Amino acid sequence: MKVLRKGRQQDGGAQEYTCGNGNSGCGSLLLVGEGDLYCTSPHHDGSYRAKFCCSECRTETDVDVPSHIGIKVRNREMKKPTATPSPFRHHM
Ligand SMILES: [Zn+2]
Repeated sequence: MKVLRKGRQQDGGAQEYTCGNGNSGCGSLLLVGEGDLYCTSPHHDGSYRAKFCCSECRTETDVDVPSHIGIKVRNREMKKPTATPSPFRHHM
């Protein structure tokens, strides 16, 4: 297979979403990857809610994401580097 036009790096789980909640947003169709999602919170039904910021109009859109993506994004958010190294680091 040949890549005709290389997109930016995706770590899998990229999905198409439309910008905007109801009246807000520009309605662009966006390819949203895990790296674009933040503010994940689990739903009672096991799925996750996350936000992404439209690259066109900077509107934040809330989307439901599958649990396997929500968990990954949530783990990434919790592993954000802190200014001071924690002495209570877990050994993997
Ligand atoms: Zn937009």
